[in-house]
Amino acid sequence: MTEFPEGSVWLVGAGPGDPDLLTRKAERLIASASVIFHDALVGEGVLALARAGTRLVHVGKRSGRHSKAQETIDELIVAAALEGERVVRLKGGDPAIFGRATEELDACRDAGVPVQICPGVTAASAAAASLGASLTLRGLARKLTLVTAHARAGEVLDLDWKALADPDATLAVYMGKAAANDVSSNLIAAGLPGETPVALVENASLPTERHFHTRLDLLPLAARTALGDGPALLLIGRAMGHRQRARAEIAPEEQCA
Ligand code: SAH
Repeated sequence: MTEFPEGSVWLVGAGPGDPDLLTRKAERLIASASVIFHDALVGEGVLALARAGTRLVHVGKRSGRHSKAQETIDELIVAAALEGERVVRLKGGDPAIFGRATEELDACRDAGVPVQICPGVTAASAAAASLGASLTLRGLARKLTLVTAHARAGEVLDLDWKALADPDATLAVYMGKAAANDVSSNLIAAGLPGETPVALVENASLPTERHFHTRLDLLPLAARTALGDGPALLLIGRAMGHRQRARAEIAPEEQCA
């Protein structure tokens, strides 16, 4: 197949979990792969699209582990391609957003292995869909910032809070659940009002999806009490407050504060 020759690698965006949110190209590549290296966040429904006989290798990393794990993944992918496999590296969301794609692209290119990216629906888009809300809002949220609040084990979260505390932006915080306290206190200290609307979305697009509305000063409490074990995104900014009062009347049980 010209799209996917033996000995090549595709970094494929698996989207937020619901297999219906895969691109048609991603579905085709998954069905043509001879081996799939996948993350912890890739859902069962997506993996079920692999054909019988495709080797599925779970290479999920948990936060806090040393970056050696990434090197191991790079080596596995390259070795499989050099053995003539059709390799899919399946990553949650979009591979080019907080997905360590650069390391894998470099490893393939250094080894002379052809590698391409198939984009996916990123968590922020899925979360907005789950909320039935827009991430941008004419005149109120002219900017969308995607930021990761993941700090390496033992390190403090070192972000440019002044730049992030922008009242005209929507801030989508990936890997932000554990850092909810820091996010809230640092943004408030940098000047963002405590009443800034916040939405928390867990397991966006999956049957287990949950979402909550709160405000920036109450975010630590909401993150502690309202969320389960699933991946969650924090969305912060005035666009998240649009029509919230109307929503409250419809779904009071979803209100966290
Ligand atoms: N490449 C991925 C992001 C990987 S970082 C993407 O483009 O979406 C992992 C973080 O993404 C999680 O900690 C969480 O913040 C977010 N995330 C991934 N899937 C999610 C989902 N279904 N619902 C909510 N957040 C999700």
